[in-house]
Amino acid sequence: MTTEVILDPAERAAATSDAIPEPVRVADGVWTMPVEFPSEGQPLRYTLGYVLLDGDGGVHLIDPGVDTDANWQRLEGLLAALGTSVSAIRTVIATHLHFDHLGMAERVQRATGAAVVLHRLEQAAIDGEFGGADPERFDRWGVPRARRDELARITEERFTKAAIAADRLVDGGDVLELGDRMLEVIWTPGHTYGSMCLRDAERKLLFTGDHVLPLMNPGLGLGGPAPSNPISDYLVSLDKVIGFDDHQVCPGHGYRFLGLRARCERLAAHHARRTAEVAAVLDRLDRPSVWQVASQLYWSMGWENLSHYLLDSALAQTELHIARLGRHHELEKTA
Ligand SMILES: [Zn+2]
Repeated sequence: MTTEVILDPAERAAATSDAIPEPVRVADGVWTMPVEFPSEGQPLRYTLGYVLLDGDGGVHLIDPGVDTDANWQRLEGLLAALGTSVSAIRTVIATHLHFDHLGMAERVQRATGAAVVLHRLEQAAIDGEFGGADPERFDRWGVPRARRDELARITEERFTKAAIAADRLVDGGDVLELGDRMLEVIWTPGHTYGSMCLRDAERKLLFTGDHVLPLMNPGLGLGGPAPSNPISDYLVSLDKVIGFDDHQVCPGHGYRFLGLRARCERLAAHHARRTAEVAAVLDRLDRPSVWQVASQLYWSMGWENLSHYLLDSALAQTELHIARLGRHHELEKTA
């Protein structure tokens, strides 16, 4: 396994502190756009969005981040520093539906008439084609009463902030022509069903959204109901990008790095270990709830420190591993 190459020490340092890094130049006409990510109970302070300038004066955004006034000002400030402005924005691409990526897209769309681009299946998820929010899951998981309010708020946040109609829907294999720039769409279901990576082959850049992150194992199945098991999907999706080892990885959080193959191998190994760990807990406990299984697993932050979004994600991940093992019937019978 090769090791990771950190491309910007300041960006790397910000990822594990409370700071938001400064925007930096990624490649010819490509800049990072770090924006704040205010949300309870999760360790991420910022989203890494990206600004692409084409040769015809057009501006294109990838993952503009949470819709806050401060982020809007960051966007205006960065574009001014680059000698342009929000009125030049032609395209806003979101790698997936989460509000820390797609959030500000609608505001940009309204203010500038820019075209919002989503994967076709992500729009379908937003439109509820695979089912809506899943409030019954707290019963199904055996979540103690005292913890349900914090999780219910998350459900609301996740599903109500994503009601957008994209102007252009894309599929894996499509090529987005942004002025004189080309971005290839790679469909990478797992984190959400319609999650996508974007590849700039000319500059050897891969924008990964939350599919591949440098410091975290991305939660899976977090885009609402999906027609297939997100863990199985995710492993296939890692294989779709693992070959771009010479590309600069431009993730949606954390920092840019080289060493995609090693990172993908580590992420795949994590899920294999996790499935085995869940199997061992199921062997040990008699008719446990998802909550009880999750509480027996190793969590890097510590089980007792998980709350809000991370707790919801932890429980969802646990249930997915149980489903992947085909051992759902061994859980306690709940209402
Ligand atoms: Zn996400």
